[in-house]
This record gives sequence, structure tokens and C-alpha cells, in this order.
Amino acid sequence: MNELIVGIDLGTTNSEVAIVQAGRVVVIADENGAKIMPSVVGLSEQGEVLIGESAKNQYVLYPERTVKSIKRQMGQEIKVSMAGNEYTPQEISAMILKQLKGIAENYLKQPVQKAVITVPAYFSDAQRQATREAGEIAGLEVVRIINEPTAAALSYEAKQNVHKQVLVYDLGGGTFDVSVVSIQDQVVEVLASHGNNHLGGDDFDQKIIDHLVTHLQQVHKVDVRNSRTSLARLSRAAEIAKIALSDQPFVLIEEEYLYEHQGLPIHLSLELSRYEYEQMIQEFVEETLAVVHLTMQSANLSVADIDEVLLVGGSTRTPLVVQRLTEKFQQQPRGEVDPDLCVAAGAAIQAAIIAGQDTTAAAVLVDITPYTYGTSALGELDDRLYPYMYVPIIHKNTPLPVTKTEVFYTMYDHQEAVEVNVYQGEDADALNNIQIGNFLVAGLSKVQQGNQILLTLDLDLDGILKVSAKEKKTGLAKSIVINNAISRFEQVEMEQAKQRVREIFGEAVAAVDLATASTTEQNHSIVQAKALVEKAERMLERAATEDKDDLVNLIETINEAIASQDFVELKTAMEQLSDILYYLDL
Ligand code: AMP
Repeated sequence: MNELIVGIDLGTTNSEVAIVQAGRVVVIADENGAKIMPSVVGLSEQGEVLIGESAKNQYVLYPERTVKSIKRQMGQEIKVSMAGNEYTPQEISAMILKQLKGIAENYLKQPVQKAVITVPAYFSDAQRQATREAGEIAGLEVVRIINEPTAAALSYEAKQNVHKQVLVYDLGGGTFDVSVVSIQDQVVEVLASHGNNHLGGDDFDQKIIDHLVTHLQQVHKVDVRNSRTSLARLSRAAEIAKIALSDQPFVLIEEEYLYEHQGLPIHLSLELSRYEYEQMIQEFVEETLAVVHLTMQSANLSVADIDEVLLVGGSTRTPLVVQRLTEKFQQQPRGEVDPDLCVAAGAAIQAAIIAGQDTTAAAVLVDITPYTYGTSALGELDDRLYPYMYVPIIHKNTPLPVTKTEVFYTMYDHQEAVEVNVYQGEDADALNNIQIGNFLVAGLSKVQQGNQILLTLDLDLDGILKVSAKEKKTGLAKSIVINNAISRFEQVEMEQAKQRVREIFGEAVAAVDLATASTTEQNHSIVQAKALVEKAERMLERAATEDKDDLVNLIETINEAIASQDFVELKTAMEQLSDILYYLDL
């Protein structure tokens, strides 16, 4: 039997323990089912040692009896105070490690004596030595200390004999690190690493907290910062709101009886949009990109040399982070191995390699969607106004189950209906993707253009896709369920392939297009056409005389085509009008 070695991610904010069992990585849950343990240690009023969630919970009220972020002090010759007693950073870290050891033993039903522990790539010798000592105090032989980015890379690449260069972008709660890692024949080497020890999700929370405090000052004329309990509640609410905004465009932050002022209760109720939130954190995200740039310079590499970007740390679930990295590297970063758990998973893989276990199949098993799902909207495609621009909502490689919501806007005043088309595929032109469903939401309020419609896609492990559209203002909603959304792709794709083959052989299938299009498709064209006409009418004033004539003619043609339901004519006229509008827009 191989010897038993566990992998431990001893993090600043959270820690985890994992092993490879029967070729699979298992991140071990505690008796409450939690795989992520806050790296917080405390002593209760009764003198009982608290570690993890319970210690985190008492921090706000009893900071003098609680220690968090001890990792920042590792390697320093100092003592920290907890409930009047003095401890070295090694001792505090040892308490966390001992707890993780216990969680693993409880799960494995046998003693655990050896571990691989991860540390940041920038850790000095003194900091690494202190980590070893912490292990020893906890009763663990630290068989190897490995770098966190190395572990992250291993969690993605344990089984392959590949040669590639990956950038590991690690944005946690309180720290940020970027490393460029080279993988060659199972040798993983950190080429360059930079970071900021005081940048992370906590800063994002703080921005929301500040926003809420200001709101309460303005609306209720109170300063809740002088109440520890109110502030603790605000900070929890801020983090929950932040996490919600990773999957939806708005969040309602509500805290009843948050504060008392002149004997009256103060309730908090404020909506925050993802857009507002992104403005708040933009400077932080740009700061991380500057560090990415610096790291690539240190490694003497350019964007084109990076084969993959791997996401580590809970804060990398922030859409703005993913968006900016995608723009910079012109590729979708990989985050399918849970970013909170991939360092622990990599540590477990390293531990298994040292223990002589077969790791060729030691993949971190995650259920992901192999396709992208989205809708179409009027937007710019190849610098032209185009009615079927594809708007991805659930990106491929997203772990399942997943629920994502995005906001869309009506295009003209008094628009009473919107048509929702659901597609599967990757092409920027929705019409080149596979349409897997569509429906109409009718009876919208008669308001100006820009009425907000929330579109939610919910994809579960069985491939069932629930799509719902809701008018935000009134809650009016309509939804559909698409069964077999994942396997269905193959069926539809097969049909399309057959059709393409038939086309090549000259069979008369081209006429299938607009002439036989479904009524909903036609309604969709009419909605788009009306939007184009509106835009054209607005542009008439600015247009030169010769363009004006063309515009007027096309508007007339479109209106007539709509009246006579001539969809072939309508399509041609819409294309011509889009072209002209595009040039006038410049
Ligand atoms: P880590 O230190 O890697 O465990 O990361 C913890 C940080 O990730 C905390 O600031 C969390 O609030 C943040 N976080 C966790 N989940 C999400 C999410 N879905 N969106 C944005 N931030 C998140």
C-alpha cells in the first residue's frame, strides 16, 4: 500500500485539505459538509479553542480573542496576542493545520502524518521554514513545500505530458498573485511571480460597505460605523451582494433593524447594479492587470507566448476580472476547476506523485457545460449594426449547475413585446449558432425604450435548461424549459450538417429560410425592422440630401414589406438600411 500523504492549501483567508483516492482528487469536507475552512483561530469566553467558521463568527465581536490572516506574519520573529496569551505565527498556523489533519483523519478513519503544503511563490526561505515548523507543531511531517501556482497548474495538467506556458492569476480575499509557470514533462517551474499582499475581494467588499454607509448617511442621516454590530451586518451583506452580482445584473441589499436612531429603527434597502459595482472596483482590476504585465515582462514573455490563463481564488469569479483577462489574452481564461479548491487539489496531486500513486488519471472531476448558451440582440458585429448579435450568457466550461442572469433593454417606446431567442454555440453571429428555443413575452408596460428585461438561464447537471424572461419593473415573466439542452446540440447539429450536405448536392433546401420561417422568427424580424426604422428616422435630420432620399425610400419599403408580410423584401431592405446607418453613425 502507498503511504498516505495529504495536500494542504494553507491560505490567508481560507484553507483546505485534499487527497487523491482511487485516481480522483477529493477535497475533504468537515462534518458539516464544508470543504473551505476560514483560516481563523480564536478562544471563546470559556477558553475553548475555536478554529474556522466558529472563530470567524466571533471575530467581529471579539477581535482581541481572535486571530486571522496569520499567514501574513509567517517568518517574522513576532508574537501575536489572543485572549491575553502570546503565540508565534507558527503556533497559530499549527492550530489550523491540526484542524485540517483532524478533518482528514475523520474522513479517512486512519492517522494522517504527512503532508504537502502550498505557499505563495514569493515566500522567502524564512517563511517556508516557518510553514514547515507549523506542520511539525501540528504533528505533520511536511514532505514538501510547493508553490501555489505550481499546485494550480498541476490541478489542470496532472495527467498530460505537455509543454506549455500558463499564467496563473490568483485573486483571493486579501491577496493577489500572478505567476507564469512553465510545464514540461511533469516538471512545473515558476518563471516569474509578482503580487500585491493587500489586494483582494475584501477590498471589493469595502467599496460596497462605503457605498452603503454613504447611502445611510444621506437618506437617514446616521453614521452606522459607530456600531460594531451594524458594521458587521453591513460587511456580511456587502459580501453576499458582491457574490450575487457575479451571476446577476442587480441585487437588492436589505437589512431590517440595522441601526437605531433616536429610538427609531433604521432599515436598509438599496438596489445595487453590477454596472455601479464595476465602476467601484475598476481601479483594483486595472491594478491587477498592471501586475500581470509586469510578471510577463519579468518572464520575458508576450501575450502570444501564454498558452493558457488559469484562475485561482474566489474573486476570479467576478465577471469584470474574466472580461478584462479575456480582452488582454484574447482567450477565455480557465476556471472550471473550482478556483477556491484548485490549489488544494494540486497539492494532493503532488502528494500522490511523491507517494508513488498512479496519477495519470488524477483529474479533478468537474461537470461542465461543453457549449456556450446565449441569446441574440441588436448590437454591433464587425462594426455594423446587426439585429442578431450573439450575447453569450453561460460560457462553455462553466461548472454545473449554473444560473446566470443578464439585463436587456427594449428598443423603442411603448414596446409591448420582446422575443427571446435561445442559442447554443460560439459564433458572434447568432444565426450561425443553433437555435434551441424561443418565446415571446407580451403585455409589457407602455413605457419609453430602455425598459429592463431580465433574462435568466439555468442549466443543471442533467442538461435541462430553464430560460425565463422577466420585466423588471412589473415582474411580468415568461419561461420555457429546454430538455436535453446539452445532447440536443448534437441532434440539431446533425440536422444542420445533413442540410449542408443536401445543399452541396443541389437539393432545394435554400427556400427553407425566410419564406418558411416560423411566425416567431417573423415577429422577431418585424421588431428589429421597427427598431431600425426608428433609428433611421432619428438620423434623417443629420443625413446629407442623397442619403436622406435613400433613407426615406428604405423606410417606406420596410413599412410596406411589414404591411404586406413580405419577409424576403423586408430582409433585403433591412440589410441595406443597416449598411447606410452604419456609415452615417461613423
Ligand atoms: P479565497 O481567498 O480564494 O478563498 O477567496 C475568497 C474571496 O473570494 C472572498 O473575498 C470572497 O468574497 C470572494 N468570492 C467568493 N465567491 C465569489 C463570487 N462568486 N464572486 C465574487 N467573489 C467571490
